Amino acid sequence: MDRQQEFVLRTIEERDVRFVRLWFTDVVGSLKSVALAPAEVEGAFEEGLGFDGSSIEGLARVFESDMLAQPDPSTFQILPWRGEKEQTSRMFCDILTPDGQPSSADPRGVLKRTLAKAADMGFTCYTHPEIEFYLLKSDELGADGQPVPVDQAGYFDHVPGGVAQDFRRTAVAMLESVGISVEFSHHEAGPGQNEIDLRYADALQTADNIMTFRTVIKEVALTQDSYATFMPKPFSDHPGSGMHTHFSLFEGDTNAFFEAGAEFQLSKTARQFIAGILRHAPEFTAVTNQFVNSYKRLWGGGEAPSYLSWGHNNRSALVRVPLYKPNKGQSARIEYRGIDSATNPYLAYSVLLGAGLKGIEEGYELPPGAEDDVWSLTAAERRAMGHDPLPASLHDAVRAMEDSELVAEILGEQVYENFLRNKRAEWHDYRIQVTPYELRRNLGIL
Ligand code: GLN
Ligand code: MG
Ligand code: MG
Ligand code: MG
Repeated sequence: MDRQQEFVLRTIEERDVRFVRLWFTDVVGSLKSVALAPAEVEGAFEEGLGFDGSSIEGLARVFESDMLAQPDPSTFQILPWRGEKEQTSRMFCDILTPDGQPSSADPRGVLKRTLAKAADMGFTCYTHPEIEFYLLKSDELGADGQPVPVDQAGYFDHVPGGVAQDFRRTAVAMLESVGISVEFSHHEAGPGQNEIDLRYADALQTADNIMTFRTVIKEVALTQDSYATFMPKPFSDHPGSGMHTHFSLFEGDTNAFFEAGAEFQLSKTARQFIAGILRHAPEFTAVTNQFVNSYKRLWGGGEAPSYLSWGHNNRSALVRVPLYKPNKGQSARIEYRGIDSATNPYLAYSVLLGAGLKGIEEGYELPPGAEDDVWSLTAAERRAMGHDPLPASLHDAVRAMEDSELVAEILGEQVYENFLRNKRAEWHDYRIQVTPYELRRNLGIL
């Protein structure tokens, strides 16, 4: 047993931990959890805990269903919302096949593999997510058939005595107590919409943090008689919930995206990284924007990007290079604005990082930036400038992903196929629906 594992066993004993939850995610990023008695933890470290992989979406087929969940001791954390006595804790797991090999169907494993590739190229990848979500009165719809937000406030509004304010204070304290550092939190533009930005961390830790974040936010909302949703676009008339993520690559202690004196202080590596993301974005959008509803956000305004473009101080750009602060070379980074809050963070960060690395490997040339608002250009102008559209629907996104060698390579054959299968089924379900919109529009006229 290694030192981290020993530390976990000791903490379980000293802190009177009664339940140890093992966490992992399925292919669409739903959190799965199994509670272990403390006495079982040592065995789980050694051999993993057996479970039926065929009952987890996208993990295994019935005839190869035995899988093992092996807890990663570096992710051990007490869960404070379960109370002070008889404490509950959790660890994230890696998924193994019965012979103890990493399962190629494990989303966390996909990200680990991508990060190992970055490491082979000499890079560590840091990420900083800005997570948007809506706070609703409940998960039930109002009389008008719409969700009911907890307030009517807007961007950066300070609402005296407001629900959202109390909510953010409790949620931020809870996040800090499970080891997740928060940098900013504020009311977002939509009614009941909030944003919480996590301090940068390496990409695997960020993805774990996002999974924990979603649980904490939902738990805290429930204690305040409200309901939190990460759905990409709950209201047609209000902005969707994005999860803009800032990326930087470090070589040792040096930020590989920074070059003093270059345009926007962006190094060649950073330019190639952006070029990789822009070139491959249509192929990986099914992953970063994985639901039918995601495309209502991308095409529904509210500052969500719809076209391939990059820019400096331009909120319509898909990739934005944040304002450079003098003497802050280490903070040089790029922001991907396409991704939404309902993505599987392990897979989304894998495809984004994988596409950026591809740009570096192949020495892609970065097209000129867009300092205009790309929404206000005509379609012909956009075409001339190379601002092609992102996929318009889950169907288009799946089609683009089906043709992508790069995405197949990054996800591995099994996750690639399982993901596509799940998404084709979702599209099939959706396209046979007759919606209230169609009834309003057609009934009584046609
Ligand atoms: N909500 C917007 C989106 O969906 C982002 C708004 C912002 O943070 N400026 O991407
Ligand atoms: Mg923000
Ligand atoms: Mg925001
Ligand atoms: Mg942002």
